[in-house]
Amino acid sequence: MGKKYEVGIIGGGPAGSTCAYYLARKGVDVIIFDHTQPREKVCGGILSSTLLSRYTIPVDIIERNLNFCEVYSPTYKKIRWTYKKTHGSVSRKKFDWFLLEKALDEGAEWKKLKVNDVEEKRGRFILSTKEGEFKVENAVGAGGVNGILRKKKIGAFPTKHLSKTYDLKLKFEKEYVDEHFEDGWYLLFLDDRYVGKGYGWLVPKKDYVLVGLGCELEYKGNLKKSLKELLQVHPLLKEKIGKPKSVKERAALIVSPKTAEFFKSKHCDKNWVIIGEEGGFVHPLEGDGLTYAMITGELAAKLYIANSSFEDFDKKWVEEFGEKIVIPKDGIENFYNKSVLDFLFDIAEGKPELIDQLFEGKLELKTFLAAIKKKTEMNNSKKESDS
Ligand SMILES: Cc1cc2nc3c(=O)[nH]c(=O)nc-3n(C[C@H](O)[C@H](O)[C@H](O)COP(=O)(O)OP(=O)(O)OC[C@H]3O[C@@H](n4cnc5c(N)ncnc54)[C@H](O)[C@@H]3O)c2cc1C
Repeated sequence: MGKKYEVGIIGGGPAGSTCAYYLARKGVDVIIFDHTQPREKVCGGILSSTLLSRYTIPVDIIERNLNFCEVYSPTYKKIRWTYKKTHGSVSRKKFDWFLLEKALDEGAEWKKLKVNDVEEKRGRFILSTKEGEFKVENAVGAGGVNGILRKKKIGAFPTKHLSKTYDLKLKFEKEYVDEHFEDGWYLLFLDDRYVGKGYGWLVPKKDYVLVGLGCELEYKGNLKKSLKELLQVHPLLKEKIGKPKSVKERAALIVSPKTAEFFKSKHCDKNWVIIGEEGGFVHPLEGDGLTYAMITGELAAKLYIANSSFEDFDKKWVEEFGEKIVIPKDGIENFYNKSVLDFLFDIAEGKPELIDQLFEGKLELKTFLAAIKKKTEMNNSKKESDS
């Protein structure tokens, strides 16, 4: 058994590194375990304006500013949703490395080791690695979708709350990307021939483009086949994707909360906390996990510094962003319904702020669905009186 540490963080992604940075800055003896860094995590790499206004990210880390999101309906209707505040597009390799180095500069220690097991003994944790055991007073689970501390404390994610993704990293000359893409990204809602409940995306970087599909884990279709077909038929993809210099296929899981109850599980106690995607903190509609990874990392660290305990973490995150993350409590299932989406595009034409409101949680899905019902009833009675 080597040196003992006050806090051991399992996972050096955005959640773990942010937590380590705030702890180390206040002199807490903190160690991060991550066997994979530096690595390119499978991710769209979109940074929200919330993240960019809360944290200082150097301009050279931002590959591209994103000033709009062009949203496509399943029948290829489109609306451009112009952001009030700029978002950013990053390479996860550079972004995560920047955050990890920042934590190390403040005095955090990093071991390029995988934690194979976590055992709690007399209020302390023993973390087992191939180089032996490490004793830590407090444990932070920041290992993402497969986080080990979550499995030990509250169990793995039920498959219902997971989505599968498949994407292509398409390398181009920088000039090609500049010529074919403006400063924005593309969100494609698709019907169940392609993804079931889910969507597609296209995100430009400096000299590459990510195009991918994500949907509920239970969907039986083949995402690789769907994407291949979409590249031939979707007007946006046909227009934008020429002949890349190289193509890399990737696949990953992402947490996609389906019910309000999902967020009610315990994330902490006095001497442990689970943050970032390991805690399930991914926006149910937008798939934004990076903002919540960094915010939960910061909140956990600041709580620990103030109280020498993580006990109040569940109260704290609910206060900070609870309302924002649990919006689909009245029916996320309906959101991916083709007719609901097409209707949304109809009424949103010329009024993209409706989408804004829906994503910001200001327009309840319930209200929106009630409006659809009313409109359908009106159409039906009109048809009846016409005939
Ligand atoms: C296809 C796809 C697209 C996405 N697009 C976006 C997007 O555009 N914008 C956005 O905000 N979010 C996006 N997300 C979500 C986002 O990627 C995650 O929510 C985010 O990475 C979570 O950060 P994290 O630090 O919690 O976990 P991670 O980034 O997953 O980092 C966890 C780290 O812990 C390490 N680790 C795990 N277990 C152990 C262990 N036992 N021992 C040591 N180390 C361990 C891992 O190797 C990893 O480096 C996307 C996800 C997917 C799959």
